[in-house]
Amino acid sequence: MQNLEAFKSLISTPKKVVITTHHKPDADALGSSLGLAGFLKKKGHEVSVIAPTDYANFLTWMHGNDEVIIYNEGNEEKSAELVEEADIIFCLDFSSLKRINELGEEVGKSKAVKVLIDHHLEPEDFADYVHWSTDAAATAELVYDLICEMGEKSLIDKNIAESLYAGIMTDTGSFKHPNTSKNVFMVCAQLVEIGADTSKVSKLVYDTNSIDRVKFLGYALNEKLKVIKEYHTAYFAISADELKQFHSKTGDTEGLVNYALSIEGIKFAAVIIDRTEAVKMSFRSVGDFSVNEFARAHFSGGGHKNAAGGISHETLDKTVTKFEDLLEKYKAELTSAVKAFV
Ligand code: 5GP
Ligand code: MN
Repeated sequence: MQNLEAFKSLISTPKKVVITTHHKPDADALGSSLGLAGFLKKKGHEVSVIAPTDYANFLTWMHGNDEVIIYNEGNEEKSAELVEEADIIFCLDFSSLKRINELGEEVGKSKAVKVLIDHHLEPEDFADYVHWSTDAAATAELVYDLICEMGEKSLIDKNIAESLYAGIMTDTGSFKHPNTSKNVFMVCAQLVEIGADTSKVSKLVYDTNSIDRVKFLGYALNEKLKVIKEYHTAYFAISADELKQFHSKTGDTEGLVNYALSIEGIKFAAVIIDRTEAVKMSFRSVGDFSVNEFARAHFSGGGHKNAAGGISHETLDKTVTKFEDLLEKYKAELTSAVKAFV
């Protein structure tokens, strides 16, 4: 962070703090928020964590989960009050205020000092303090680095360490993606030293599936996978009825896109889901094809070069047709040789 001394002085006395993160928080969004909340509480601050929406059950083990305020579950007024009265608002794991839905307007007009901690491309210019880097694999990594830069590492306990570890573990795809840097391993080694039980975190996040979720995965793989070899693309399109049929809960479709990307020769993968209020899309790529640019240009979205998301207000069928029709435009990028690993 550029103005670190001013930031340190800002948080040196107790403040009213709000931490918020993106729509449908994932492990990095929630883990970085609860990790930071744990740290700031130890510093004597009054901290509220506000999530715009609910999140997957496999994240609720995190310390501090019980106190998370879910904005769209009848907490709109309470959240607006907290945001209005806050001295400091931390915005974690998102780079555009529209990612926190209606809460974005409240945050935008609040007089609080705003702090952005994030690793997404092209951040909006709304924060007073910015700790941002696309070199970071996860926002949780940035939170860890910031606490250390402030000389406060000793305040990180096992609970904080496990929330941060969960964020790094998932945003690196369990240390598989190209964002798995030397710093990722250094930070994780420190988190283990502090007491993070990595095997426990992995089990809680990945191996607590409902039977419905596993059956849905089987159904999707068997019935819904569409491979377009010509464009090195594979995707799943899932209807609202199919979600209902498998009693799908928040988080149940997370990770599905990776199965499409795991197919040999596939460079671009998508999951297109009719969430009733809108069609949500998850994009992944390998190599130089930027799904961030694709999502920004065509589906009001964004994210990272190899992992992004977007939205469509057309029907599922029309969205799928638009998606397929766009592939021709990117044919050169999608069919250029996949970088060989030697
Ligand atoms: P996922 O596909 O796992 O939901 O998201 C992949 C990445 O893209 C994450 O970093 C997420 O924050 C970002 N992302 C997902 N959906 C959207 C969206 O609608 N807009 C923007 N700007 N980013 C998104
Ligand atoms: Mn993240």
